[in-house]
Parts: sequence; C-alpha cells; structure tokens
Amino acid sequence: MHSELPAVPGTTPMPEHRVAISERGSFCHATCACGWYSPARRSRDLTRREAEDHLAAEGADPG
Ligand SMILES: [Zn+2]
Repeated sequence: MHSELPAVPGTTPMPEHRVAISERGSFCHATCACGWYSPARRSRDLTRREAEDHLAAEGADPG
C-alpha cells in the first residue's frame, strides 16, 4: 500500500514565516512572509494573537 504524497518540485518544504503588523487608520492586520494575512481588525491585540496562532499552526517560532 502506497499512501505517500508525491514531492512537488520547486517548493520549499519549510517556508519562512515572518509576521508584520500593518496599521491603516484605526484598523490593523498581520501579514506573513509566506503570503498569509489576517483580516483587518480594530484590535491590535487580536491581530497579534492571530499572527501568533498562524506561527503556531505552521510550527514556526514567533520572533
Ligand atoms: Zn506564515
């Protein structure tokens, strides 16, 4: 029984995750170097938490 996923050429197995928080007016959102981004929030605290959730979900260390 073979259930291995085929390797995809041209993709890095571990993309870098670097989260930055951008503010626009009273809203802010987090963006990551991997292409992920959070929805715009009015709470920077919530944005930071979502960014940390993303890093944790991807297995990356925050900071
Ligand atoms: Zn990421």
